[in-house]
Amino acid sequence: MSHQTVFAAELAWPEYKRRVSGGDCPILLPLGSMEQHGHHMPMHVDVLLPTEFARRAATEIGALVAPPFTYGYKSHTKSGGGNHLPGTTSLDGATLVNALRDVIREFVRHGARNLCIVNGHFENSWFIVEGIDLALRELKWAGITDVKIVVLSYWDFVHEEAIAKLYPDGFLGWDIEHGGVLETSLMLSLYPEFVSLQDAVEHAPARFPPYDVYPANPDWTPPSGTLSSPLGATIEKGELLLSVCTEGIVSALRKEFALPADAAESVTREARTTLVEQG
Ligand code: ZN
Ligand code: MN
Repeated sequence: MSHQTVFAAELAWPEYKRRVSGGDCPILLPLGSMEQHGHHMPMHVDVLLPTEFARRAATEIGALVAPPFTYGYKSHTKSGGGNHLPGTTSLDGATLVNALRDVIREFVRHGARNLCIVNGHFENSWFIVEGIDLALRELKWAGITDVKIVVLSYWDFVHEEAIAKLYPDGFLGWDIEHGGVLETSLMLSLYPEFVSLQDAVEHAPARFPPYDVYPANPDWTPPSGTLSSPLGATIEKGELLLSVCTEGIVSALRKEFALPADAAESVTREARTTLVEQG
């Protein structure tokens, strides 16, 4: 096949089988949400961004990117504006957990042993852990114990030096970055056609009491739907974020999956054994 792709679902099955069945090709699975992101961005930001980080990382390490989860767990007032907002379309926790468990089990059935969940939506976090735990437990019962799953959220790779450049006036935490400088800068550098900064709403960072109330009180959410102003976003910040997070993800996966530092393409277990034997 002449078309080069890292997207698993773009392959025909014999090629997919050739890549995956030996167990050496990592599978990266982006997890997002359909969630409002203010007046200036579309609702699939949390899908587009982790998918692009997964694509970049997969290209570097010879992995495949699985089709992303395009719905996620319910938006929380303090990290995504809240689940009451129009457009935000969420799964119950148990649905997400079970769907993730099923998909992990399927990739392992195909032969994959190294997987990475690339998360783009904060609220998915503990449901990812639960889905993985159930999948590993089932696989263990089936006698399969050599599966390794890395879980990461791309923003956790932004180091202090980058934070100082991104937030010269002070950093208020990732939780109120919903629709703010982080996501808007990344979207500006990757998908400028989807961003309309002229529609962005300037407002002070959201402030919340140190507790939650259910049902959620919609008055806690800034009317814009974002939790901090996106007006500090720039293409340059987006490019800095892209390089810092991609580098971080790539080196984490090389370490955890014991990949050679310069592997442009994954090799089969047999081929690697041969290389090792040849010294
Ligand atoms: Zn988001
Ligand atoms: Mn989100």
